[in-house]
Amino acid sequence: MGVEEKLPSGILLSTVEQAAGLVRKSSMWPATFGLACCAIEMMSVGGPHYDLARFGMEKFGATPRQADLMIVAGRVSQKMAPVLRQIYDQMPEPKWVISMGVCASSGGMFNNYAIVQGVDHVVPVDMYLPGCPPRPEMLMDAVLKLHDQVQNTKLGAHRQDQLEEEEQRRLRR
Ligand code: SF4
Repeated sequence: MGVEEKLPSGILLSTVEQAAGLVRKSSMWPATFGLACCAIEMMSVGGPHYDLARFGMEKFGATPRQADLMIVAGRVSQKMAPVLRQIYDQMPEPKWVISMGVCASSGGMFNNYAIVQGVDHVVPVDMYLPGCPPRPEMLMDAVLKLHDQVQNTKLGAHRQDQLEEEEQRRLRR
């Protein structure tokens, strides 16, 4: 009798998913993408005090093709929206987005025609971070919560969620 037949069904698959989740969350590389004042707080988490390198995330990539996390740090202008979308499209799957600060999440105090009223109008968002600006500790907390989410998401389910969100956004237009 083979090993698979001795194990209760599902054990082997869930182990593979757990392993994949562990690898993914332990090697997330953020894209370099600061937009406004929130980016200063984001930069500080890469320094020695907060030390994002502890989580395998010290490499902020200048190319989206080597990044799987976009931290939208700051307000998104209407002119920047298509650029942001292009960078997101150039990132390989699977990929995640953190909306950092009230401006990125909802437009914040900039309730006007020049600013996108929430980056989720442009790309799917996995984690919203409140504050103006959020403290570096809050970004670290969001990163760890995202890691938990990545670890516990079934293979393929994240992509499916993104596609559904994209479809809803298209219908809202
Ligand atoms: Fe600047 Fe505050 Fe907006 Fe962040 S949330 S971009 S700190 S105004």
